[in-house]
Amino acid sequence: MSSTPTRITHLVAGTPWEGTAERTSPVYNPATGAQTGVLDLASAQVVGDVVGRAKQAWLDEWRDASLAKRTQVLFKFRQLLDERKEDIAALITAEHGKVLSDAVGEVTRGLEVAEFACGIPHLMKGGFTENASTKVDVYSIRQSLGVVAVISPFNFPAMVPLWFVPVAIACGNAVVIKPSEKDPSAVNAVAALWKEAGLPDGVLNVVHGDKEAVDALLTHPDVRAVSFVGSTPIAKYVYETGTAHGKRVQALGGAKNHMVVLPDADLDLAADAAVNAGFGSAGERCMAISALVALEPIADELVGKIKDRMGKLVTGDGTRGCDMGPLVTKQHRDKVASYLDAGVEAGATLVVDGREGDVDADGDGFFLRPTLFDDVTPEMSVYTDEIFGPVLSVVRAKSYDEAIELINANQYGNGTAIFTNDGGAARRFQHEVEVGMIGINVPIPVPMAYYSFGGWKSSLFGDTHAHGMEGVHFFTRGKVVTSRWLDPSHGGIELGFPQNV
Ligand code: NAD
Repeated sequence: MSSTPTRITHLVAGTPWEGTAERTSPVYNPATGAQTGVLDLASAQVVGDVVGRAKQAWLDEWRDASLAKRTQVLFKFRQLLDERKEDIAALITAEHGKVLSDAVGEVTRGLEVAEFACGIPHLMKGGFTENASTKVDVYSIRQSLGVVAVISPFNFPAMVPLWFVPVAIACGNAVVIKPSEKDPSAVNAVAALWKEAGLPDGVLNVVHGDKEAVDALLTHPDVRAVSFVGSTPIAKYVYETGTAHGKRVQALGGAKNHMVVLPDADLDLAADAAVNAGFGSAGERCMAISALVALEPIADELVGKIKDRMGKLVTGDGTRGCDMGPLVTKQHRDKVASYLDAGVEAGATLVVDGREGDVDADGDGFFLRPTLFDDVTPEMSVYTDEIFGPVLSVVRAKSYDEAIELINANQYGNGTAIFTNDGGAARRFQHEVEVGMIGINVPIPVPMAYYSFGGWKSSLFGDTHAHGMEGVHFFTRGKVVTSRWLDPSHGGIELGFPQNV
């Protein structure tokens, strides 16, 4: 039974936009293949209107809101998000396809950033030095930027915006979010919770759209900072365009994450980890493991254990308790599937072919079951490209040095993991590897909210990582004040450069 797709539109100052969109885009349920939504795409003019509304709210309401008021809103938002996380997760599963338990996990990791932001009175404290010079005090303060933009990818429709929005709002900014056009509903639902939590209208706004909306944000003179997450080519473009227009930009890009298994590792635990990190969320995680570097002589045994585990995975509709859901769109599924032919043609061994086998779903969903390649070498496209699907490639290495050279030669540097029981080897790895987030016997080392998230090399453009203290710094500007209260001892003419006495 097909039903009419629901209209999904912008949220301006807490209210659904009432205009008529010049362009729209379809939204699908990837598990059934059915179109469920029709999304309004913002023109540059709509973006301009929304930025203007956000700026007014910043000036009138939020820039000078007390820290007490801000934390009241943050605590309430945190409570509401916790209460409604199953509802948000259901929206994620319906448009992204990831299984429900995974979607709940995503919201929970986003919730942790809201919890971190509840500590904003402490996080924004400046320093104070009494008597830096005689009767002269020096102190530092941090202030909000104004309107900031958050542009997010499809793969974490709730968590990625939550990496930035609670911190930006806690710091006193007004925010315009531009979510992925593939799964836009979760952001609208989370934005409604901010309103319910008492955030003044206009402090948070959602514009839906594509390149036109992104370009309008990157070039608008009243947008002071841009937090972007997406693929590397777009991240680079966003960084270059935004900074050329005078904005502060943090642009997190793509990844190719390696998991190194040393011969002394527990191979059962390593095989579990490889399957979880390779195929969770259908491999559509920026921290997914896509290259498994197995050190000889354990590669045959490890591949066998992974293959056994893959045989038990159930792929299907994410609402049915399956292990893995569909890919986000038909085009993306077809692109990922094309790598299976490319890998075979290049000489890799296709150990498990994800095009075979059943799925537990109705309709014509965008499914590809988990796939395993062995004997992959660094020049093959299955190794060089970020496939962003359930395809795990095993690269065999003869030594630790060969493994680390492989990782350090890769253009990406988002996440990596080593599996070993040798503390010295693990310590050497964390020191030598040129990657931003490292797991030691942890396959998906996503930092907690009070640390900062971000990769190196082509996985991040800009200087600042997401959330934690780096997030607070990104969303604020510092001032240092030198102050004295005049008395007769300060008199006299002295044209020399001020020195401390
Ligand atoms: P994407 O780059 O296609 O889209 C990201 C955002 O950019 C979306 O909001 C989209 O509307 C917008 N966009 C798309 N094309 C554009 C263009 N030509 N000009 C301007 N804006 C454009 O990424 P995606 O497919 O939604 O997400 C998957 C990618 O995101 C993967 O590469 C993944 O590794 C990456 N990612 C990285 C991290 C990280 O922390 N480094 C986290 C999540 C996802």
